[in-house]
Amino acid sequence: MKSDLLVVGAGTMGGWTAYLAQLGGGRQVTLLDAWGPGNPRASSGDESRITRAAHGSDALYTRWSRRSLDDWKQLGEMRSEDLFQACGVLWFAHQDDGFEARSIPVLRAERVPYERLTPAEVARRWPVVGASDLAYAVYEPEGGALMARRGCRAVTDAFGDAGGTFERAAVRPGSVEGPRLEDVIAADGRRWSADTFVFACGPWLPHLFPDVLGNVIRVTKQDVVFFGPPARSQPGAPAWCDFDLAYYGLPDLEGRGPKMAPDRLGPIFDPTNGERLVDPESVRLARTYLRRRFPGLADAPVVETRVCQYESTPDGHFLIAPHPEWENVWLVGGGSGHGFKHGPGIGRYLLARIDGAAEGIQEGVDEARFRLGPRQVASAARTGGDEMWRSWEAF
Ligand SMILES: Cc1cc2nc3c(=O)[nH]c(=O)nc-3n(C[C@H](O)[C@H](O)[C@H](O)COP(=O)(O)OP(=O)(O)OC[C@H]3O[C@@H](n4cnc5c(N)ncnc54)[C@H](O)[C@@H]3O)c2cc1C
Repeated sequence: MKSDLLVVGAGTMGGWTAYLAQLGGGRQVTLLDAWGPGNPRASSGDESRITRAAHGSDALYTRWSRRSLDDWKQLGEMRSEDLFQACGVLWFAHQDDGFEARSIPVLRAERVPYERLTPAEVARRWPVVGASDLAYAVYEPEGGALMARRGCRAVTDAFGDAGGTFERAAVRPGSVEGPRLEDVIAADGRRWSADTFVFACGPWLPHLFPDVLGNVIRVTKQDVVFFGPPARSQPGAPAWCDFDLAYYGLPDLEGRGPKMAPDRLGPIFDPTNGERLVDPESVRLARTYLRRRFPGLADAPVVETRVCQYESTPDGHFLIAPHPEWENVWLVGGGSGHGFKHGPGIGRYLLARIDGAAEGIQEGVDEARFRLGPRQVASAARTGGDEMWRSWEAF
C-alpha cells in the first residue's frame, strides 16, 4: 500500500511528526523503525531528558520548548502515563553576562516564570547544592524532566491509536524516478512506497546520506552516570544545568538515582555497533563535579551508566530541510544534545513546510538556521559552553 507520508525513525522527531500528521487527518501515515521507539541505541532511548525554556537570547527555542511541553503533558494525560516530572530546572551561573543573563530578557518577554536567586538563597532552598562558587542562579519552576524512552513509546502507541501504521523495519532509500524517491527498501527486499518521505534517523542520518550529511552531522559518544541515592532521598531536588562548566543532571527520578553527565563531545561513535561502555574518565569527571556541587553525594556509588550519542551540527541548530535532489524527501535531525524536548515543535514545523509553508521569519526569528547549507561553528542554545564547540575543529 502506498502511504501519503512515510516517516523513517520513531525517536522524538520522527514519532511526533508521524503522530501529528496522522492526527491532522486526511493523510495515511506509516512510521518505520529499525529497533522500535525509544530503543537503547536511539538518542531518544535514555530514561530522562531535561525540558527547559532558557536558551540564551534565542526566542524560537524558548517558544518551541514551552509549546512542546504542553504537547508532552497532554499526551501523558491522554494515555494516563507519567511522561513529565515537574521538578523545575536550576541554572548555575558563573558570570554576570553569560548564557543565563542572556536568557532572562527572553524568559521575561515570553512570560516564562523564573526566579533569579543568590547563592545563599540556593543553599537555603536546596541544602544539597553547594553554591559558594556561583555568581547567581536562575530557577525555572515550570521546567523539569521528560521520561524519554517511555515518551517515545507513548507517541508511537498514540500514533497507532489514531490510525497510523507502525512497523519495525530497517530501510534505506529505494527506487528513484527523476527528482522523486519512489520507495524505501529493507534488507529482505520488502518495499514501502509513499508520496512524501521523512528521514528522522537521528545519529544514523550521516550513514544513510553520506554525500549529503557527512559534513553536517557528527556522531559522538556521550557517557551518562547514575549515582546511588541516599536511602532517604531528597524531596524536591531540581534538574540542573551548569552551562559554563559543561555539566548537567537530573534528580533521583523513580528511584534510579541522580543522573549526571559531563557535557563534552566524546569520540566519534557508531550508533549501530558501538559498544556502550562508559569511559572511566567520564565517571571521574562526573564525580569531581559532584564533590563540588553536591558534596553530600561525593561518595555515592555509581549504580548505572549509559552511553548515548549526540548527532551534532556545527552550530547546534537542528536540521529540518528538503533533500537537495529528491523533492519529496525531508531530512530531520541534528538534535545536537538538545532536541528531545522539541519533538512536537519540530514535527509541527516540518508538517507546515511539507504542506507548503515557506521558510521565513517566525515572530522575529530566522528559520534559515535549519537549512542544509554551510554552517559556522558556534554554540547555540544549549549547555556545553563554547569550549565544547571549539573541540569540533579537532575532528
Ligand atoms: C546523553 C544525552 C543527553 C541529552 N540530554 C538532552 C536533554 O536533557 N534535553 C533534550 O531536549 N535533549 C537532550 N538530548 C538530545 C536528544 O536526546 C536528541 O536530540 C533526540 O533524542 C534526537 O532524536 P531523534 O528523533 O532525532 O533521533 P533518535 O532518537 O536516535 O531516533 C532515530 C530513530 O531512527 C531509527 N532508525 C535509524 N536508522 C533507521 C533506518 N535505516 N531504518 C529504520 N529506522 C531507523 C532508530 O532506531 C531510532 O529509533 C540528549 C542526548 C544525549 C545523547
